[in-house]
Amino acid sequence: MDEVLNDLPCGFICFDDDGMILATNRTLDQMLEYDDGSLRGRRIDDILAAGGKIYYQTHFFPSLKLQGRMQEIYLKMRTRSGRTLPVLSNAVRHTSTTAAARTECVFMRMTQREQYEDEILRAKQAAEMANDARAKFVSMMSHELRTPLQSILGYAELLESETSGKLTQTQTEDVRSIKSAAEGLARLLTDILNFARVESGQTSFQLTRVRVRDAVSRAEALLRLRIEAAGLSYIQPDIPAEASVQADDYRLQQILLNVLTNALKFTSPGGEISVWCRRRDGFVLINVSDTGCGIAEQDMDKIFAPFVQLKRVSLDERSPGVGLGLAISRDLARAMRGDLTVTSQPGKGSTFTIQLPAAETVGGEAVAAA
Ligand code: ADP
Repeated sequence: MDEVLNDLPCGFICFDDDGMILATNRTLDQMLEYDDGSLRGRRIDDILAAGGKIYYQTHFFPSLKLQGRMQEIYLKMRTRSGRTLPVLSNAVRHTSTTAAARTECVFMRMTQREQYEDEILRAKQAAEMANDARAKFVSMMSHELRTPLQSILGYAELLESETSGKLTQTQTEDVRSIKSAAEGLARLLTDILNFARVESGQTSFQLTRVRVRDAVSRAEALLRLRIEAAGLSYIQPDIPAEASVQADDYRLQQILLNVLTNALKFTSPGGEISVWCRRRDGFVLINVSDTGCGIAEQDMDKIFAPFVQLKRVSLDERSPGVGLGLAISRDLARAMRGDLTVTSQPGKGSTFTIQLPAAETVGGEAVAAA
């Protein structure tokens, strides 16, 4: 056999229609642990593992006879010592009127690929188990902490109501601090629990037709006093009455409140928050713009990652946050077939865009626009 063929980086074999091996190259002899040339005269069955043999007889050879060639066929070979060797094979069958038909076939090892596949599978299983454990831990922890926290809040409110006796000025302030810290902790627990639920796909969505103008007005009404107290102006250029999205009303409120609260937290007094919307390619884009501190280009992706807060200090002490709001909001928007994105100019302001499928009404029924 010519030296080039002998040293190819893949196994080579030539056999006749009876499965008799006519020639092999050195690479194949070595792959299968045989002495050079000693496979000649043996049968193809001798070098195939049990499953490979059956596959060869029922599929491989009949198809080869029919089509003349086979490509990228996965086979299991058997080495001389009985090890199984997974290979990928390409074969061509030559026929002529003057000589018996013969098949030439090359085999490429797949051991490493199988190892990688096994490793990926194991890693995936480990990640799934870790995810489950994390979700269980988070939900258990939140429950366990919530009960004593409610007691702290309850007792603080009791003291504050002065039913058990009048408080001094200092005591009133201390009780207020306890209450505010407990409320902060309760908010944090709610955020963590929400995030764990959305991440593990446990959040349920009731998709209905939601009028954008109503949803935005409700969110604004909840925050109106805080917007005024922060010395900001709010404008809502006419959102068309018919602009509607296919969304879960409650989840959309959650997203709007988060994005509006952020606008409030990161905009200095005298600034402006505006909400407007437009349609594009079957989607409605709800834009929440502020004239706040803005976000640097390199931080744009980071802020959607859980527990990320940029160094910039929030201007609103009442909702310190833990860096989960945007991560939850984007997951919610995506779960409703939409998205949450941002554009920003440091020092000038940011625009967060909630994109959701537009909803049309057909015979009174809400349907998502194509
Ligand atoms: P939180 O508000 O709890 O810190 P978020 O996930 O809502 O967490 O926001 C993450 C970070 O993104 C914020 O800490 C802030 O640094 C940045 N950010 C969000 N919204 C704005 C905004 N409108 N202007 C400037 N920075 C913002």
